[in-house]
Amino acid sequence: MHSRTDHDGRLVVVGASVAGLRAVEAVRQAGFDGTVTLIGAEPHLPYNRPPLSKEFLRADVDAKAPYFHSEDSLRSGLGVDLRLGMPATALCVNSRTITVGEEEIPYTATVLATGASARTLPGSSQLRGVHTLRTLDDARDIRAALVPGVRLVVVGAGFVGAEVAFTARAMGADVTVLEVAQTPLVRAVGEEMGAALGGLLSRSGITLRCGTAVETIEGIGRVESVRLADGSILPADLVVVGIGAAPATGWLTASGLELDDGVVCDRYLRTGAPGVYAAGDLARWFNPVLDRTVRLEHWTTAAEQGALAARNAVDPAAAKQCSTVPYFWSDWGEHRIQFVGLPHADEVSVVVGDADSEGFLALYRRDERVIGALGLNQRRAIMRLRTAIAGRATWAEACADVREPVRARR
Ligand SMILES: Cc1cc2nc3c(=O)[nH]c(=O)nc-3n(C[C@H](O)[C@H](O)[C@H](O)COP(=O)(O)OP(=O)(O)OC[C@H]3O[C@@H](n4cnc5c(N)ncnc54)[C@H](O)[C@@H]3O)c2cc1C
Repeated sequence: MHSRTDHDGRLVVVGASVAGLRAVEAVRQAGFDGTVTLIGAEPHLPYNRPPLSKEFLRADVDAKAPYFHSEDSLRSGLGVDLRLGMPATALCVNSRTITVGEEEIPYTATVLATGASARTLPGSSQLRGVHTLRTLDDARDIRAALVPGVRLVVVGAGFVGAEVAFTARAMGADVTVLEVAQTPLVRAVGEEMGAALGGLLSRSGITLRCGTAVETIEGIGRVESVRLADGSILPADLVVVGIGAAPATGWLTASGLELDDGVVCDRYLRTGAPGVYAAGDLARWFNPVLDRTVRLEHWTTAAEQGALAARNAVDPAAAKQCSTVPYFWSDWGEHRIQFVGLPHADEVSVVVGDADSEGFLALYRRDERVIGALGLNQRRAIMRLRTAIAGRATWAEACADVREPVRARR
């Protein structure tokens, strides 16, 4: 363990989700014995978001709320001063305080981990039956409405929308996914592989309509239909709007921190203010392995960053860089999609299986290097490729490495 410079200070973590929780766990594991305060806007104990668009939505499965810890294990086990159900509303970097309700909570170091909130379609949220999916409460509402035969329209063919579509289809819903772009998931996986994943949606009994913009969502009191930009009308009992998320920086507007689609940080996840770090979906940081500034919305990065930011915050003399190859997964029914690296490639080549099959591996080349990989039901290959990309493997090396050994796997 490193020498600790601030072991009797007060660490305040804002945002009680995966990044915030990992922050708390990491400093306790590192032996920090000062006060740790965890502030969460939602009334719930910290919970895991990925299951919310997957098995938790299935009313036919006895799904428990995916809490990470009991209240007792947080308060007594980890010694956390837990403040749930009220948002932080301000950060003052001069007085080193965070405002929650009437209280000004002092910090010696703080980790900001307020994540992101779902984007909404203007003018539709007041109708019953129209939902976004970001929180446990959102998932509970959708779960209650997902009954066999329900006509579900998902607006946006992103990963969360696609997962909802698959889960709903398995529940016997009649599912249409609307996507304004000509190909789904282009920003995440590029044109060719976006088309391949769109094919998987279509082959699974889900109606995918690309190049289709939503004009309005209509109904009296509750949703009845979705009017499309071409004038056609799609009847709907339930609408899930999955058009992405925006970093939850609103409460930091007056803080003086640099905000630019997230809280701007250096490679150590430090903001410009002393003792103030950021992590997870909120953080836009300089990622040395990519040699550029990025903000990711991936569970693994949020977990890694929460732990790293907190250790750096309480022991700045031993601070480590946050250098990580992006990784995410998405479960579409039984299918596991995984992506590592970046999709901005000169060439994408399917090296295992076929892009229109239920199992393939594609590599992304930029100049002579492998920069990304997409796997459909190729679990172990992807993790090896994450290491290869981190090690700046050449395209030839990566191709040789994956071709034979991974062929048989699902
Ligand atoms: C439905 C769903 C499914 C997903 N599935 C996958 C997946 O399969 N694979 C994958 O890689 N990623 C997935 N993700 C993304 C992943 O869950 C996120 O990247 C991760 O949750 C980010 O963690 P975070 O702690 O940074 O932020 P968040 O999880 O967004 O949490 C931020 C927390 O801060 C709280 N908060 C906000 N403002 C304040 C405030 N002012 N004061 C106090 N608290 C505040 C919020 O209430 C929230 O609890 C999924 C996301 C969703 C929504």
